[in-house]
Parts: sequence; C-alpha cells; structure tokens
Amino acid sequence: MSKYSKVVLKKGKEESILRFHPWLFSGAIDRIEGGVEEGDIVTVHASDDRFLGVGHCGIGSIAVRIFAFKDVEPDLAFWCDKIQAAFNLRQRIGLTSTKGTNVFRLIHGEGDGMPGLIVDFYNGTAVLQAHSVGMWVIREMLVEAMKIVLGDLLTAVYDKSSKTLPFKASIEPVDGYLFGGQTTLEVMEDGNRFLVDWEEGQKTGFFVDQRENRKLLSQYAFGKDVLNMFCYTGGFSFSAMRGGANLVHSVDSSVKAIEMTNKNVELNFPGDKRHEAFAADAFDFMHDIKDKYDLIILDPPAFAKHKNVLSQALQGYKKLNSRAFQQIRPGGILFTFSCSQVVTKTNFREAVFSAAAISKRNVRILHQLSQPADHPINIYHPEGEYLKGLVLYVE
Ligand code: SAH
Repeated sequence: MSKYSKVVLKKGKEESILRFHPWLFSGAIDRIEGGVEEGDIVTVHASDDRFLGVGHCGIGSIAVRIFAFKDVEPDLAFWCDKIQAAFNLRQRIGLTSTKGTNVFRLIHGEGDGMPGLIVDFYNGTAVLQAHSVGMWVIREMLVEAMKIVLGDLLTAVYDKSSKTLPFKASIEPVDGYLFGGQTTLEVMEDGNRFLVDWEEGQKTGFFVDQRENRKLLSQYAFGKDVLNMFCYTGGFSFSAMRGGANLVHSVDSSVKAIEMTNKNVELNFPGDKRHEAFAADAFDFMHDIKDKYDLIILDPPAFAKHKNVLSQALQGYKKLNSRAFQQIRPGGILFTFSCSQVVTKTNFREAVFSAAAISKRNVRILHQLSQPADHPINIYHPEGEYLKGLVLYVE
C-alpha cells in the first residue's frame, strides 16, 4: 500500500477506528506522510504505525472516510465486491424481485461500507450521488463495477453529484449520464406508478426512504379526510387514495412538485375527484384547518443540516406539529417525520411532545417509524440513522 500517503494518528486516537467507525476527524491526526489532495486515497495508521484502514481524504472536519479496515487495494474487483454485497442485501430482503416495486436504494453510504456514496435504482437507471470527492473521482470505476454486478438489469447511470459534493471542493462537477441515456421516467412502488425526474427533481428524484411508511399509511386511510403536507411528488397521497381515503389534499411550496403530484395522481387514479393539490407554504396552509382532516402527514425537509442550528430546527418541528395537534379532528391520526440527521430520535420526540402539550389533547404513540431496510444502518456508525417518524392518535 506504499503508493498511498499515510495518515498517522495522535497517540490513543485509534479507538473509534478499531471499533470500525468509518469517520476519522481531523483533530485525531498527528501527521500526514506524503502530500494529499481532497479525494485522494490514504492509509490510516496508529501512532505506533499499526495499519488501521484505507479511505478517501476530505477537507472538512471528517478528514478521512474509511471504506476498508483491511490492507487492500481499492481496485475494480474491490468495488465489485462492495457493490455485490450491497446488491445481495437488497436481493435477500426481496426488493429486487418484489412485484409492483422496481425502485430501491442500492447503495446507502456508510450503511453499505461505502461512505460518501448514494445510489438509487429506478427501474434500470442508477442515480448516483457522491457526497465525497473521493467517490466522485472514481465514479467511472463505480459504473464499471455496477455494470458487472447488475448485468442486464442496468440500462443507465446518471451522476447527480453537483449539489451533494462538498461546497468548497476544487472541482467542477456537471450532472449527466455516465452510461446509457434517458430511458424511462416511470417507476413503480407497491403498485403505484410514479414519474421520477432524476435530472431536475430533488435528491435523486424520489424519496425512496418512505416506502414502508407510505404502506402503513394506506392501512389507516379508509374513509378519512387526509392532508399530505410537504407532498413532493405525491407518494403519501396515492397511498391514502389506494387505502380508500375519502378526500386527499396534497400541499407543497414547490409549484413543480405540485405539477408532478397532479400528473402522478392522473397516472394512478385518472379523473379521481377525491384529490386536490395546492402550491402553498405549510405554515400558511395550516393556519386555519380546524377540524378539516382526520389524517395529517407532516414530512418536511431537513430543518437542521448542521448541529449549530439544532435548537432552531426543534422549534420548527414544535411549531409545525402544534398546528396539527390543535386542529386535527378528534380521533385523528398524525404521521409526523424528521429526516434531519442531527436531530436524534429523543430530540424529535421531545419536540413533538412539547407540541402535543400545547394543544392539551390526549395523544398516544401508535408507531415509531424509521428508515427502510434498503437504507441500512451500519451498527458501528449510529449517525446513519436519520429518518424518524411517529404515528400518533389524537383524541
Ligand atoms: N413526503 C414526500 C417528501 C417530502 S420532501 C415524499 O414522500 O415523497 C419535502 C418537501 O417539502 C419538498 O417537496 C419541498 O418542496 C417541500 N417544502 C419545503 N419547504 C416547504 C414549506 N415551507 N411549505 C410547504 N412545502 C415545503
């Protein structure tokens, strides 16, 4: 491994890496032997020179993202093994052959031992988002590896890293196809059809992580008047309609999202008058909805992207949820979520608890929700748990 620069830690700073935590923080580094640039591969060593791991260099507080705790050469065969392992997991949990579903997350960063890399699979097209320069510079090799592992299943790979790469990186990424071209924009989840715009849409084009929660929602929707707040492309709305909702209102501040929701509703439920979509701000729309809805979904964007705005974010969750608690019909059900990684399960529950207390209503927790199995959490990297949800019964 001598061809890579060596990162040597301060004395006693190897503990977390010995416990397979994939992040090395800059404060733990004593010296770097050899020059490094952001995205370079380095080997990490304890102060007594013991080998600890191989990873990609970054310039933020996470100085190295470790992808192997063995002294290996990260060549095509290495990445093939990694991607094969990720694919095997999706196969084992039945996602690659589930009737009615052809969209799933293929690679979930640290959860799949590939820190800095997200890949969602949309009915043949893999949409890749590199969150580290290291993953981005090897993207061609990753595409080769995906082709080998997925074979005929893979028809295209779209790189959508321009917005996820570190802000200060000295590279100029341009989004585009690394393999194949635009094929199909339609995917299916639990029998619901969706138009996915990975080129223009948010994240990789679709919020794959809410699949199981949408399914649960459909079980509660029968006969209910439903408000799907922060609807994006309408996922929860169809689940509610599929489940027999009486009426569904979808709301998002993005006009584009509302257009997509309307198109998707038309695709699944042509001419169905139960649905109506509104382009509006959540706080405005929820100003006066007293006793209008039996079931409310609140799935806002991440209110806190960094630890320093945590308390402000918690206030945001409190304010939002209190509007729902105060106005939902008696016997109503609230599905409420947070996808901020820095907001812990406890933080979120406390914010929702405070919101409930303001309304003085009797509230019970029916379900505690999380991210699905294709967004696995590496047990050595608890930070990987990001999606939290509560289903609440409001008397
Ligand atoms: N529930 C969706 C994903 C929600 S993503 C799904 O299952 O697919 C969050 C959405 O919130 C985005 O579409 C964004 O446009 C919208 N949004 C952000 N701020 C908002 C605001 N203040 N009011 C209403 N919608 C907002």
